[in-house]
Amino acid sequence: MRIGHGFDVHAFGPGDHVMLGGVHIPCGFGLIAHSDGDVIIHALCDALLGALALGDIGQHFSPLDARWKDADSGQFLLRVTAMLHERQWRLANADITLLAELPKLSPHRQAMRERLASLMDCAVDRVSVKATTTEKLGFIGRGEGIAAEAVVLIESFA
Ligand code: MG
Repeated sequence: MRIGHGFDVHAFGPGDHVMLGGVHIPCGFGLIAHSDGDVIIHALCDALLGALALGDIGQHFSPLDARWKDADSGQFLLRVTAMLHERQWRLANADITLLAELPKLSPHRQAMRERLASLMDCAVDRVSVKATTTEKLGFIGRGEGIAAEAVVLIESFA
Protein backbone atom coordinates (compact mmCIF):
# COMPACT_ATOMS: atom_id res chain seq x y z
CA MET A 1 0.00 0.00 0.00
CA ARG A 2 1.00 3.60 -0.48
CA ILE A 3 -0.37 6.91 0.77
CA GLY A 4 -0.54 10.28 -1.00
CA HIS A 5 -1.53 13.80 -0.04
CA GLY A 6 -2.63 16.74 -2.18
CA PHE A 7 -3.51 20.37 -1.55
CA ASP A 8 -4.83 23.08 -3.87
CA VAL A 9 -6.08 26.68 -3.71
CA HIS A 10 -7.89 28.91 -6.18
CA ALA A 11 -9.05 32.51 -5.82
CA PHE A 12 -12.63 33.58 -6.42
CA GLY A 13 -13.29 35.86 -9.37
CA PRO A 14 -16.12 36.96 -11.61
CA GLY A 15 -18.47 34.27 -12.86
CA ASP A 16 -21.73 32.49 -12.28
CA HIS A 17 -20.62 29.02 -11.21
CA VAL A 18 -17.80 26.96 -9.78
CA MET A 19 -16.76 23.40 -10.60
CA LEU A 20 -16.08 21.39 -7.47
CA GLY A 21 -15.58 17.66 -7.32
CA GLY A 22 -16.59 17.53 -10.97
CA VAL A 23 -19.98 19.07 -10.17
CA HIS A 24 -21.26 22.33 -11.68
CA ILE A 25 -22.47 24.58 -8.84
CA PRO A 26 -24.31 27.77 -9.84
CA CYS A 27 -23.35 30.72 -7.59
CA GLY A 28 -22.59 34.43 -7.75
CA PHE A 29 -18.85 34.04 -8.45
CA GLY A 30 -16.32 31.92 -10.29
CA LEU A 31 -12.79 30.64 -9.77
CA ILE A 32 -9.67 32.16 -11.33
CA ALA A 33 -7.69 29.39 -12.99
CA HIS A 34 -6.15 28.21 -16.26
CA SER A 35 -8.40 25.13 -16.14
CA ASP A 36 -11.86 25.10 -14.54
CA GLY A 37 -10.27 25.63 -11.08
CA ASP A 38 -11.72 22.49 -9.51
CA VAL A 39 -9.65 22.45 -6.30
CA ILE A 40 -11.09 19.10 -5.20
CA ILE A 41 -10.01 17.32 -8.37
CA HIS A 42 -6.65 19.09 -8.40
CA ALA A 43 -5.93 18.05 -4.79
CA LEU A 44 -7.07 14.50 -5.57
CA CYS A 45 -4.83 14.26 -8.66
CA ASP A 46 -1.88 15.51 -6.61
CA ALA A 47 -2.59 12.94 -3.90
CA LEU A 48 -2.67 10.10 -6.46
CA LEU A 49 0.46 11.38 -8.21
CA GLY A 50 2.12 11.69 -4.81
CA ALA A 51 1.29 8.10 -3.91
CA LEU A 52 2.81 7.04 -7.25
CA ALA A 53 5.81 9.36 -6.73
CA LEU A 54 5.13 10.79 -10.20
CA GLY A 55 5.48 14.48 -9.43
CA ASP A 56 2.57 16.89 -9.36
CA ILE A 57 -0.35 18.04 -11.44
CA GLY A 58 1.57 21.05 -12.78
CA GLN A 59 4.16 18.75 -14.36
CA HIS A 60 1.55 16.62 -16.11
CA PHE A 61 -0.98 19.32 -17.01
CA SER A 62 1.02 22.53 -17.22
CA PRO A 63 -0.86 25.82 -16.86
CA LEU A 64 1.37 27.04 -19.72
CA ASP A 65 -0.10 24.40 -22.05
CA ALA A 66 -2.94 25.78 -24.21
CA ARG A 67 -4.54 22.31 -24.27
CA TRP A 68 -5.62 22.79 -20.65
CA LYS A 69 -7.10 26.29 -21.05
CA ASP A 70 -10.55 26.17 -19.40
CA ALA A 71 -10.15 22.39 -19.29
CA ASP A 72 -12.64 20.15 -17.54
CA SER A 73 -10.53 18.89 -14.62
CA GLY A 74 -12.34 15.57 -14.91
CA GLN A 75 -9.94 14.92 -17.80
CA PHE A 76 -7.00 15.26 -15.41
CA LEU A 77 -8.47 12.75 -12.99
CA LEU A 78 -9.26 10.29 -15.79
CA ARG A 79 -5.66 10.50 -17.02
CA VAL A 80 -4.17 10.17 -13.53
CA THR A 81 -6.43 7.18 -12.83
CA ALA A 82 -5.18 5.57 -16.06
CA MET A 83 -1.59 6.11 -14.86
CA LEU A 84 -2.53 4.43 -11.57
CA HIS A 85 -4.11 1.40 -13.24
CA GLU A 86 -1.32 1.05 -15.85
CA ARG A 87 1.13 0.67 -12.98
CA GLN A 88 -1.11 -1.96 -11.37
CA TRP A 89 -2.32 0.11 -8.47
CA ARG A 90 -5.92 0.81 -7.52
CA LEU A 91 -7.55 3.23 -5.11
CA ALA A 92 -8.27 1.83 -1.65
CA ASN A 93 -9.93 5.06 -0.51
CA ALA A 94 -9.82 8.83 -0.87
CA ASP A 95 -10.68 11.33 1.85
CA ILE A 96 -11.16 14.93 0.73
CA THR A 97 -11.72 18.09 2.77
CA LEU A 98 -12.97 21.28 1.14
CA LEU A 99 -12.01 24.46 3.04
CA ALA A 100 -14.49 27.18 2.17
CA GLU A 101 -17.03 29.64 3.53
CA LEU A 102 -19.02 29.34 0.29
CA PRO A 103 -20.50 27.54 -1.54
CA LYS A 104 -22.14 25.17 0.92
CA LEU A 105 -21.04 21.62 0.23
CA SER A 106 -23.87 19.59 1.70
CA PRO A 107 -26.39 19.84 -1.18
CA HIS A 108 -23.67 18.63 -3.59
CA ARG A 109 -21.72 16.13 -1.51
CA GLN A 110 -23.33 12.97 -2.86
CA ALA A 111 -23.15 14.14 -6.50
CA MET A 112 -19.44 14.86 -6.00
CA ARG A 113 -18.78 11.43 -4.49
CA GLU A 114 -20.57 9.77 -7.40
CA ARG A 115 -18.79 11.86 -10.03
CA LEU A 116 -15.34 11.30 -8.49
CA ALA A 117 -15.97 7.56 -8.12
CA SER A 118 -17.06 7.40 -11.74
CA LEU A 119 -13.90 9.23 -12.91
CA MET A 120 -11.70 6.94 -10.78
CA ASP A 121 -13.67 3.82 -11.77
CA CYS A 122 -14.27 2.77 -8.16
CA ALA A 123 -17.15 2.26 -5.73
CA VAL A 124 -18.71 5.37 -4.20
CA ASP A 125 -18.05 4.08 -0.69
CA ARG A 126 -14.31 4.49 -1.33
CA VAL A 127 -14.70 8.26 -1.76
CA SER A 128 -15.31 10.64 1.16
CA VAL A 129 -15.99 14.36 0.69
CA LYS A 130 -16.07 16.59 3.75
CA ALA A 131 -16.04 20.34 4.30
CA THR A 132 -15.07 22.88 6.90
CA THR A 133 -15.02 26.64 7.15
CA THR A 134 -12.04 28.42 8.67
CA GLU A 135 -14.16 30.31 11.20
CA LYS A 136 -13.89 33.53 9.13
CA LEU A 137 -10.08 33.50 9.50
CA GLY A 138 -7.56 34.04 6.73
CA PHE A 139 -8.12 34.26 2.98
CA ILE A 140 -10.69 31.49 3.03
CA GLY A 141 -12.58 33.05 5.91
CA ARG A 142 -12.64 36.40 4.09
CA GLY A 143 -14.17 34.66 1.09
CA GLU A 144 -11.21 35.43 -1.21
CA GLY A 145 -10.78 31.85 -2.32
CA ILE A 146 -11.18 28.19 -1.65
CA ALA A 147 -8.90 25.26 -0.86
CA ALA A 148 -9.04 21.49 -0.76
CA GLU A 149 -6.95 18.74 0.77
CA ALA A 150 -6.99 15.11 -0.31
CA VAL A 151 -5.47 11.97 1.15
CA VAL A 152 -5.49 8.70 -0.75
CA LEU A 153 -4.46 5.15 -0.03
CA ILE A 154 -3.62 2.97 -3.02
CA GLU A 155 -3.07 -0.78 -3.14
CA SER A 156 -1.08 -2.87 -5.59
CA PHE A 157 -2.77 -5.64 -7.56
CA ALA A 158 0.46 -6.69 -9.26
MG1 MG B 1 -5.41 24.00 -9.08
